[in-house]
Amino acid sequence: MSITAQSAWNNCLNFIKDNIQPQAYKTWFEPIVAVKLADNALSIQVPSKFFYEWLEEHYVKILKVALTKELGESAKLVYIIKMENTYGNKQPFTEKIPSSNRTAVKAQDVDIPLNNKNRELRNPFIIPGIRNVKIESQLNPNYSFENFLEGDSNRLARSAGLAVASKPGGTSFNPLLIFGGVGLGKTHLAHAIGVDIKDKYPEKTVLYISAEKFTQQYIDSVKKNNRNDFIHFYQIIDILIIDDVQFLSGKSGTQDVFFHIFNHLHQNGKQVILTSDKAPVDMQDIEQRLLSRFKWGLSAELQSPDFETRVSILKNKLYRDGVEMPDAIIEYVAKHIKTNIRELEGAIISLIAQSSFNKKEVTIDLAKQVVEKFVKNTKREVSIDYIQKIVSDYFQMDVDTLQSKTRKRHIVQARQLAMFFAKKLTKASLASIGSQIGKRDHATVLHACKTVDNLTSTDKQFRKYVEDLTKKLSV
Ligand code: ADP
Ligand code: MG
Repeated sequence: MSITAQSAWNNCLNFIKDNIQPQAYKTWFEPIVAVKLADNALSIQVPSKFFYEWLEEHYVKILKVALTKELGESAKLVYIIKMENTYGNKQPFTEKIPSSNRTAVKAQDVDIPLNNKNRELRNPFIIPGIRNVKIESQLNPNYSFENFLEGDSNRLARSAGLAVASKPGGTSFNPLLIFGGVGLGKTHLAHAIGVDIKDKYPEKTVLYISAEKFTQQYIDSVKKNNRNDFIHFYQIIDILIIDDVQFLSGKSGTQDVFFHIFNHLHQNGKQVILTSDKAPVDMQDIEQRLLSRFKWGLSAELQSPDFETRVSILKNKLYRDGVEMPDAIIEYVAKHIKTNIRELEGAIISLIAQSSFNKKEVTIDLAKQVVEKFVKNTKREVSIDYIQKIVSDYFQMDVDTLQSKTRKRHIVQARQLAMFFAKKLTKASLASIGSQIGKRDHATVLHACKTVDNLTSTDKQFRKYVEDLTKKLSV
């Protein structure tokens, strides 16, 4: 009785199927084609070198058992790696790797002739060495759901994230797009979903990557002529997390490749998680077909946290760091830093540092200094109206007087100071500053800025004005 490669391999597959996760079976065994059976050696064709390495790393034992069961102790397995035929190479694939009864195979025994150096699959997430082939998920375990405090501002996004984590690919939230402003927790939440999935489904391949890095890898793959390896790599991921997709705007090549990867993953029930600093409707220079894919699933917004949430985020951070701090201080910080959780954390960290370096008691005054510096460093943009108001108040006049045509010296000086600060603290043009401060032209504003510079270095009283106003305008 003679058995064919196909039937022998089918029997092996039946055995393997019963012994591994269905998802893993689908990913790693379904694409294999049995090619030949001769001298008790079964040749199987795999889609890439990476694929072969993965099988060797993860499934060598089960392959051995299945093969021995089917063909006896002398069974051998030969891999044939299908080469991508980008160079007009007539040979469809390259035969290789004898492997005596499997487990004995070592990296150096494996000799895969590559017709071209460029054919080698390179991916930064694969640690070289056959025994070590593994896709590192790139997740930060500190960014967990536990640490991601719930509040009105993030409830929808957080619970969508939890739903996705408990059934990746199995909810209608695919893709899940998390969007919101800077420092509101997009990256944290995206990691938390990945971390939770890894925890619940250790056999799933999760990959976190920033859109920027993804783009870089893509560009490299084009340079090295292994674009197909790049695509293949991403198509075998079960849960793909891409951070800051707004970065893809205007990059049509990367968008195109991502579109194909996305479609493949989506069709195969894999989960895609994206973050962006904008809602899909506001994304510019992203292809329509890609935008429409983003809208297939759920777009969940992270908003600025309310006061209570800010307080609990601070308390949680202090608790995790084992630091105690009076409630009044925590509330002071939470009250003054409102729109960015990263800054909120930054302020509390620098407060802890200040107090421990200087062995100072944390007082409201110290908190005030730290918060002031913090807010100043982040260059909060003030409006020209606000500047005029502060300057007029300081000189005890109203804004109309400040803007009037009078040549009275103290009014002229106040107006010049307002112009000077508008130039310094906003991004407005000279012309626009002039038109907003009493309908003057840009030359007048330029002249005002020079005058203020001169007077600051020659006139002590005037310097005091500038210092006082600088303080008032920077809190
Ligand atoms: P984004 O990616 O939106 O710019 P990040 O995810 O980097 O923001 O978050 C900024 C910081 O704020 C991180 O240190 C993160 O841990 C923290 N953070 C954000 N949201 C929360 C939250 N709900 N609970 C606790 N920490 C949070
Ligand atoms: Mg981020």
